[in-house]
Amino acid sequence: MSATIDPRSNVVRKGFGLKSEIREVLSLDYHSDIVERIKSQGHTLSVGRFTFRLAEEFGFCYGVDFALNLAYETRRKFPDKRIFLTNEIIHNPRVNTRLSEMGIEFIDCSATNPTLFEEVTASDIVMIPAFGAEVDVYRRLQEKGCMVVDTTCGSVIAVWKRVERYASDGFTAIIHGKHAHEETRATSSQTEKYENGKYLIVLDREEAEYVCRYIVEGGDRDEFLKKFSDACSPAFDPDCDLQRVGLANQTTMLSSESLEIAEMFREAIEKKHGHESPEARFRHFDTICTATQDRQDAVNKLVRQDLDLMIVIGGYNSSNTTHLLEISVQHKPAYHISDAGCILSATTIRHKLMGQKEETVTENWLPTGEVRIGITAGASTPDRLIGEVIDRIVQCCGAS
Ligand code: SF4
Repeated sequence: MSATIDPRSNVVRKGFGLKSEIREVLSLDYHSDIVERIKSQGHTLSVGRFTFRLAEEFGFCYGVDFALNLAYETRRKFPDKRIFLTNEIIHNPRVNTRLSEMGIEFIDCSATNPTLFEEVTASDIVMIPAFGAEVDVYRRLQEKGCMVVDTTCGSVIAVWKRVERYASDGFTAIIHGKHAHEETRATSSQTEKYENGKYLIVLDREEAEYVCRYIVEGGDRDEFLKKFSDACSPAFDPDCDLQRVGLANQTTMLSSESLEIAEMFREAIEKKHGHESPEARFRHFDTICTATQDRQDAVNKLVRQDLDLMIVIGGYNSSNTTHLLEISVQHKPAYHISDAGCILSATTIRHKLMGQKEETVTENWLPTGEVRIGITAGASTPDRLIGEVIDRIVQCCGAS
């Protein structure tokens, strides 16, 4: 088998040498003096009855920094061109609104969009977001002849390479991730570059357990295909395509769960095929990015401190933010909010609970007296939002 598609020849992945020219506007949009001050004080700030403790690692990661720099440079370099963006550049509403104000137009790349790329011409620019895009998106854009500015994070591309290698060597890529997430869709599509490339996406331990049981004992093929109808490659056959598996993951999953799932598959393959040369049937590389790992480690450390509650700031569709909440709720009352507007008053907060799609409103969220609040933020959350949340809490309680 060999790679048949190289759809990326019209792709730009470097800046345009305008870093110094965009520095000021980036700072105006995303910097926070409050956050800088907290960082300089050992990640702690006391104001009135409040003590805020900020996680040691939080907020923008290197991949988001890269994507935003490239997006701002592209706008500066081509002020008169139409610039499109596939989906959202990162999962943060404030950032996406800002890009929209800069005249960057968003294209819905879901499979259900019947007019995908119809409006794009050869003289336009299309940007690919930090979590990448499917192989077919690059192919279509190459056919259009437009310039593609690719802000895909290097850590995501590293996962693509793993999955490509699995596909080229005849291994089915088992991807721990969310099948509808842009990154996982892009990652799984890498298998399309190979004639017999296959993938299967598992969301969590429960789904992994189901697949592992099928590997060891077999099972109901129709039920399997129904269960994973949105999460496997076309013509996937669990009776043939689980003989040799390679593990990968969406970069922002809970790292402990990804490692556990990999181990479950290793054991299942060993049970089924014995211990001789397991590398012939099982491969695994931890593809959680270091930024995700650092933020998860930092919040694990923070929630073990003497705190009254945790606030997790980030877009509700941000995978890595959700996992910071998942860690937090195991130890403290924790509120996932998207921005300062969610702090309705000293008694009322609007937030999203774990596993819920809609926001909920909670009363009496803030204890009386001295309060210690832990704060963290996802890799797509600007410092400015964190500063605004702290400011809002303090102001709601009449302090300054
Ligand atoms: S979270 Fe990791 S993979 Fe995602 S953009 Fe940031 S550095 Fe890249």
